[in-house]
Amino acid sequence: MLGKFFAALKGIFSSLFGSKNTPNTPAPAPTPAPTRPTSKPTQPTLPPPVATDPQDGSELKPDTIVIVAHEMEEVVIRPGEPDKDFDDDIFADETTTTTTTTTTTTTTTAPTPAPAPAPAPTPTGRQPRYLWCLDNGHGSKTPGKRSPVFDDGTTQFMEYEFNRDIVRRIIIQLEKEGVKYFNVVPEVDTDNFLEGRVERANNKKSDLPKIFLSVHANAAPAKSSKDWAADSIKGIETWFYHGSKKGQRLASVFQKHLVEATGFNNRHLKSRPEGQFYVLRKTNMPAVLTENGFYNNKLEAAQLMKDSVRQKIADAHVAAILELEDHGI
Ligand SMILES: [Zn+2]
Repeated sequence: MLGKFFAALKGIFSSLFGSKNTPNTPAPAPTPAPTRPTSKPTQPTLPPPVATDPQDGSELKPDTIVIVAHEMEEVVIRPGEPDKDFDDDIFADETTTTTTTTTTTTTTTAPTPAPAPAPAPTPTGRQPRYLWCLDNGHGSKTPGKRSPVFDDGTTQFMEYEFNRDIVRRIIIQLEKEGVKYFNVVPEVDTDNFLEGRVERANNKKSDLPKIFLSVHANAAPAKSSKDWAADSIKGIETWFYHGSKKGQRLASVFQKHLVEATGFNNRHLKSRPEGQFYVLRKTNMPAVLTENGFYNNKLEAAQLMKDSVRQKIADAHVAAILELEDHGI
């Protein structure tokens, strides 16, 4: 009886205000209350990014509000504290899991379940802690994302090629260290493909908590795509989801290692209160995006073309990953 009453009420409200998800369709017939699923539903299809959504730091307008944080700023994370703007348990990590499984009574006779087997130690004796979802940012079909032509008349810095080369160098070392990773988009001939990047990472099955690492190079405002930007705009910055303490902690570790290893200008940690990057916003895991120098700064682009500099950038990412593997976020 009560159920029918509430169903009728719901129908009235739906017809008055429309349904949240399908505003233009008529109110659906009342259905029995769904039973709570015992396991997490698969990730629904993500809404596509809006065309004006920036993919990385190079697309910010001059009036964009950006919050800058120092990488040495202390970030305190309390166990079980929700992160990002999800209040789900998707950010449960080994810290929160252990705190929630400590309440047992002495009167119970039921056997305590055996703990999940720990992953095998790595060749270096390290116990894998995370699955690193490595994102190379762009594909060869992504428009723009390349430098003006160098003085030789042919050479250009292509961001997709740089990002992939850094990720490739990172993977070689993670293999040696036995760190678990997932190469999110190994294909080269993709375009923006932002939803695909996020969905693949979100849907990747893993017993270990996941972390999303997106590798990029930056571009500064210039007269046109054929013009080099000002020499003064240079350096490395690391982005995280605004309000995510885990994201900020992650970003600080990457920024610290990147600046130390390369000697590049330190542009610190950045986040945007509004219009956050799609891959930071839609990934259901702590996420970080590194901007490793400016490819339309003529001097810095020349550096980024060098094998030795690329290796330093990759090494710094690996040093950050190993620090986080050893100590956690
Ligand atoms: Zn990029």
